[in-house]
Amino acid sequence: MEKTLVLIKPDAFGKGHAGAILKLYEEAGFKILAAKVMRMTPALAAKHYAEHIGRSYYPALVDFMTSAPIMAVVLAGDDVIKKVRELNGATNPAEAADGTIRKLYAEDKTKNAVHASDSEASAAREIPIFFGAYEIFD
Ligand code: ADP
Ligand code: MG
Repeated sequence: MEKTLVLIKPDAFGKGHAGAILKLYEEAGFKILAAKVMRMTPALAAKHYAEHIGRSYYPALVDFMTSAPIMAVVLAGDDVIKKVRELNGATNPAEAADGTIRKLYAEDKTKNAVHASDSEASAAREIPIFFGAYEIFD
């Protein structure tokens, strides 16, 4: 079954929205294969966000992602990569569709509540950054 990596970012996790967000994924039919609360380090952020190093927003992104705990989750299901991106909504919450997680819970372009892998290649690269194979129950 297809898998994707979700991160519930420090803003949404800190405000206590993890349960509500996981409920939306489960109600959409996706299965939680792994989940943990953790704190990103700058090194972990650099690995996860490697393609963003050098962008103007990168320092603020790392400061934010390392500022407080996050929840890392592996979800599985039919077309889960595309469908979770749709459930999450646009990167900029001002542009996110009604009912999406970013419309409901995100503040701005940096504090935007959730991350999800954007392709099969990204999911395959990102999941092992956060989980060992023994932590994924598929
Ligand atoms: P997504 O998370 O929707 O896949 P990107 O991969 O383009 O978006 O960017 C990764 C993360 O970097 C975003 O979720 C957001 O937190 C941050 N980011 C991206 N672009 C900007 C920007 N222009 N200003 C501030 N933060 C940004
Ligand atoms: Mg992305």
